[in-house]
Amino acid sequence: MTTADVLVAGAGVVGASIAFHLAGRGVRVVVCDEGGGRGATAWSAGQVRLAHSDPADARLAALSLPVFERWAEAVGGDCGFRATGFALLVDEDRREAAVTTVKELDALGAEAVLLTPEEYARRRPGLRTDGVAAVLFEPRSGYADPGATTRSLLERAAALGAEVRTGARIDRLIVRGGAVRGGRVGDEVVSAAEVVLAANTGGPALLEGTGVEVPLTTARIGWAAVQAADLPQVDVTIDDTIGTYFRPWRERGVLYRVPMGDRTGGPAGPELLDHARSLVAQRVPVLAGHHATTSGAALETHTPDGKPVFGRAGVPGLYLALGPSGGGFKSAPAVGRAVAAELDGAGPAGELEPYRLARFTGAPRRAVRHYRHM
Ligand SMILES: Cc1cc2nc3c(=O)[nH]c(=O)nc-3n(C[C@H](O)[C@H](O)[C@H](O)COP(=O)(O)OP(=O)(O)OC[C@H]3O[C@@H](n4cnc5c(N)ncnc54)[C@H](O)[C@@H]3O)c2cc1C
Repeated sequence: MTTADVLVAGAGVVGASIAFHLAGRGVRVVVCDEGGGRGATAWSAGQVRLAHSDPADARLAALSLPVFERWAEAVGGDCGFRATGFALLVDEDRREAAVTTVKELDALGAEAVLLTPEEYARRRPGLRTDGVAAVLFEPRSGYADPGATTRSLLERAAALGAEVRTGARIDRLIVRGGAVRGGRVGDEVVSAAEVVLAANTGGPALLEGTGVEVPLTTARIGWAAVQAADLPQVDVTIDDTIGTYFRPWRERGVLYRVPMGDRTGGPAGPELLDHARSLVAQRVPVLAGHHATTSGAALETHTPDGKPVFGRAGVPGLYLALGPSGGGFKSAPAVGRAVAAELDGAGPAGELEPYRLARFTGAPRRAVRHYRHM
């Protein structure tokens, strides 16, 4: 039997960040991941941007960006962060929303400005701007390498004393006397005062027998990418006017969103890939002449309001870090720090308050939704 203060179930970017921060606080932590590369982090597009419909999400992202920027000092190693700039393209109906978001980001001390379509076209020649009324631009945002980010978090966690187990599936949680007391990994019991569920799609199965219900659905999200000498330079971009995103991909390449609907089945076939390319080619016309050379997709759990659940589950010994809802990469540094502080007795972290499970009981919380697709 292994004994720890905290057992973290799942070593995607969220579990890895929590384990890193717990280890940094001197907490005895074991983090287990079943491995196999099926987690969302392994296939994430890794975009790091601040603008969100909900200022609470923007706050977590804004707390995380400086960590990506100073990764070597803040964590150690290299997360592959590239500050390409982030552009949010909006139409006339959403111009006011973009003005509001710039003010909200300003209040968070984050840099963002509103560009005219002409200014944006001068910055990024080769892109069309039809139907774009304004561009919210963040000069310090960009993208990072999700694999490198997670590896360096786990390596530093191990260096700080965490026990990192890969290929270690937690078959079930151990519930005794109405409290969660650890997990069973094959023949072994890992006994822990607290278990953090950061298992994303593996979360619902682990909740069985705990009496805790989290409203989670599963959907597949994906991207495709192409490399070609004639592709223009792009920012990390969300095009809210047509419902796509794209970002730079390696040398002279572009990675773009593949909308998969509610599919939970396999990866995107040629039809979906062609549809995705036709959307992004409305902005990057050269793409119309290139088929995707690679693509990726993964399952992700979503909550009814599209936000994760962070906090104690109402059952002693169980802490939830579930339902990343398609955007958990960019905020993982701040989430890991705040969750570790709460588990270590520092009291409730203000930045996690909007994400408690209790929001799903009683009157439904009104979703903050200024944009069409973001
Ligand atoms: C295609 C795609 C593009 C995305 N693009 C972006 C983006 O640009 N920006 C952004 O911010 N976010 C993006 N996201 C979302 C973001 O990547 C995820 O929200 C984030 O990676 C989720 O991290 P996680 O650690 O919660 O989950 P995961 O990475 O899924 O990790 C969960 C881990 O738990 C493990 N596990 C499950 N069950 C068990 C068990 N029983 N025992 C042990 N281990 C278990 C799994 O092996 C897995 O490694 C994207 C996601 C996808 C799929």
